[in-house]
Amino acid sequence: MNNVKVRFAPSPTGFMHIGNTRTAVFNWLLARKLGGSFLLRIDDTDVLRSKKEYEDAIRDILCWLGLTWDEEARQSARMARYDQVVAQLKAAGRVYACYETAEELEVMRKKLMSQGRPPIYDRGALKLTEADAERYQKEGRRPHYRFKLLPGNIEWDDMVRGKTHYDAANLADPVIIREDGSYLYHLPSVIDDFDFGITHIIRGEDHVTNTAMQIQMFEALGAKAPAFAHLPLLTGREGKLSKRLGSLGVRELRAEGIENMAICSFLAKLGTSEAIEPFYDLDSLAATLDLTKLGRAQPKFDEEELKMFNRKFVRQMPYEKVRGRIAGDERFWNAVRGNLDTVAEADKWFDICHKPLKPEIEDAGLTSAAAAALPPEPWDENTYGEWMNTVKAETGKKGKELFHPIRKALTALDDGPELKVLLPLIGRERAQKRLLGQEA
Ligand code: GLU
Repeated sequence: MNNVKVRFAPSPTGFMHIGNTRTAVFNWLLARKLGGSFLLRIDDTDVLRSKKEYEDAIRDILCWLGLTWDEEARQSARMARYDQVVAQLKAAGRVYACYETAEELEVMRKKLMSQGRPPIYDRGALKLTEADAERYQKEGRRPHYRFKLLPGNIEWDDMVRGKTHYDAANLADPVIIREDGSYLYHLPSVIDDFDFGITHIIRGEDHVTNTAMQIQMFEALGAKAPAFAHLPLLTGREGKLSKRLGSLGVRELRAEGIENMAICSFLAKLGTSEAIEPFYDLDSLAATLDLTKLGRAQPKFDEEELKMFNRKFVRQMPYEKVRGRIAGDERFWNAVRGNLDTVAEADKWFDICHKPLKPEIEDAGLTSAAAAALPPEPWDENTYGEWMNTVKAETGKKGKELFHPIRKALTALDDGPELKVLLPLIGRERAQKRLLGQEA
């Protein structure tokens, strides 16, 4: 491992959805591609909304996806360190106390808007005297704290967006500590990224403005900001994807039989100039990662497309990737996979081939003639065609009239994998009994 270190920093305030899963996938792939390490950081500064249940679910999904981490951190355990940095920044005049109430700030915001001006905080608090502050405190007001931005141009070379600029004059000093003393995410994130030696940050483009402010926070800590990549946000059919859209939760996709590597393959290429193709392990996917191939447009995420892709993924899946997950062997898997929507469906076909079933007889004359015409074993994939030619010649039946009753008798279903591959798996003894209407 070199000194490259990336992180995935979920807030445990909801389940993994397709949007933050994409962020996790990109960060993991970048760490792997650059030979670096991957940190999982739990951003639990919001104590009211953070829940253990969500945190466990996030870990569970990351493990299932194979996005394992080398190191772990949690913001709630680092409060003393944040307090220490804030004390330094206060002393340096970069963090200041404010006493406006939410209502007062709202009035100021509306006033500026009505004047056609951007709703940027006027830094009124910087003019307060100690006596003012004391008076506010006596009134029962508690301060919140802002980080003071320095004037000037903030720029970085974004790995996705290219050169990106912000004029600090267009940004409001961000609130970093709430009235109740709790931290907002911005500053703790920078302190962590600095302390843990994070070299690259990939996140959604909803964080671009945060990045501008955070670059100044890194500078205030005397640190060099990491490299940034902002991914265009996914849109769903319902518009912007939200953490709360349960229908796009990864747990649900997993329960529906979507493969972990199908999700990773799909998300890593969605919105890039490359085709979405199945990758069956993360290392080979990581080798193809190229952030310059990401477009600037917001890609549409369509659950139906993912499901269609999953079908293709399953149908080409090598046996070694399902070994231990299905009942059958390689020959069985290769015979049925071309007809599956999910891996779990393979077991249904295993049972049809290897366990007794009640056949459905639609044309007893035809199926008993077919039973009598069954050739001796050993059987292979040519057996079915040769056998059908004999039955056709003997009964005069052809097309659907011939094939459908045979399929119903052998499998009790209307469709499924080709009978030429199923027949050798079912075997002569069972096939004969089923064609004669006996449970077998
Ligand atoms: N906890 C933040 C989020 O989930 C992390 C953002 C970041 O990557 O810095 O949005």
